[in-house]
Amino acid sequence: MTPSEFTPRRIRDVYSSGQFGLSVEVFPPQTAKGDDLLYRTLDRLQSFRPAFVSCTYGAGGSTQARTVEICSEIQSRYQLAATAHFTCVGASRDDLIQGAELMMQSGIRNIMALRGDPPAGTETFTVAEGGLAHANELVELLREKSTDIGIGVAGYPEKHQEAADAQTDLDNLKRKVDAGADAVFTQLFFINDNFFEFRDRYAKAGITQPLIPGIMPITEFARIKRITSMCGAVFPEDLASRLEDAQDDQEQQFQIGLDHAIQQCQQLIDAGVPGIHFYVLNRSQACEQILTALGIGK
Ligand SMILES: Cc1cc2nc3c(=O)[nH]c(=O)nc-3n(C[C@H](O)[C@H](O)[C@H](O)COP(=O)(O)OP(=O)(O)OC[C@H]3O[C@@H](n4cnc5c(N)ncnc54)[C@H](O)[C@@H]3O)c2cc1C
Repeated sequence: MTPSEFTPRRIRDVYSSGQFGLSVEVFPPQTAKGDDLLYRTLDRLQSFRPAFVSCTYGAGGSTQARTVEICSEIQSRYQLAATAHFTCVGASRDDLIQGAELMMQSGIRNIMALRGDPPAGTETFTVAEGGLAHANELVELLREKSTDIGIGVAGYPEKHQEAADAQTDLDNLKRKVDAGADAVFTQLFFINDNFFEFRDRYAKAGITQPLIPGIMPITEFARIKRITSMCGAVFPEDLASRLEDAQDDQEQQFQIGLDHAIQQCQQLIDAGVPGIHFYVLNRSQACEQILTALGIGK
C-alpha cells in the first residue's frame, strides 16, 4: 500500500469495533535530536499496534506547522492514523478555519479539539480577537467543515482547574460532546477511584461517547511533580512518599512509577475501559514495559 492509498482510521471507528483502543500522545520536538528520539520511540511502540498516535499543539499555535508535519510523517511512515491536537489560543475564527483546512489537505482525519492552555508566561486564557472562547465552539466549527473527520475532546476526572465545581465542568464537557465530539480523552490521573466516580457521573449526564483514561507513567519524580502542579492532577500520598524515599535513586523511581502504572491500567482494563491514552513524552521505555506486562498489542 502506498501512503496515498492509506485511509486513516477515524476515532469513532476505533472504539466502535469493540477492540481495545490503545493510543499514544507525543509532542513536536524542537531539535533534530528530538526528532530522532521521537521516531525511535514510535518505531518501538508501533509494534504494539496503537489505534492512533496523537501529537500536541504548542501554546500560542507556535507548533502548528510541526504538529501537522509530524502527523503526516506518522501516517506515511507507519501507515498509522494520526490525531492532530488543535487549540483556540491566539487564533481568530478564520485562522482556525485555515488551520483545519491545512490539516485535512495534509491527510489528517482526526483532530483533538481543545481550547488550549495559556501561552508560557501568562496565567489566564485570553480569547484572541475574533477567536473562540471554549472548545465546544471549536468542535462546532470543525463539524461545520466536516461530518467525516474524527474529533476527540478533553475531559477532567478531577475537574478542570478553572471550573467552579465538578458539575459545571461536566455540563461544559457535555456541550463539547453535543457539538459533535466522538470520544473524550481524560487529563492524566493517578487515582482510579476518581476516574470511576467521574465515569458514573458522565453516564448519569447521558453522555454515551467513549471515555478514554489518560495515563502518564511516572519515570522521574521531579518531572511528574512539575507536570501535576501545572495540570492539577491529584497525587496519592503513599506514592509520593515512596518516591520521596527514592529521590536519589532514578532506577527505583522508574520502577515505582512502572508498578503503579501497571496496577492502575490493569484495574482500568478490568473495569471495562474502551482504551487507554498514554502520555509517553516521546519516550518508549515505560510504555513498552507497561504494555508488555498487560499483554496489550502483541
Ligand atoms: C487529552 C488532552 C490533550 C491536550 N492537548 C493539549 C495540546 O495539544 N495543547 C495545549 O495547549 N493544551 C492541551 N491540553 C490542555 C488543555 O488545553 C487545557 O486543559 C485547557 O486549559 C482546557 O482545554 P479544554 O479543551 O478542556 O477547554 P474547554 O473545554 O473550553 O474548558 C476550559 C474551561 O472552561 C469551562 N468551559 C468549557 N466550555 C464552556 C462554555 N461553553 N461556557 C463556559 N465555560 C466553559 C470548562 O469547565 C473549563 O473550566 C490537553 C488536555 C488533554 C486532557
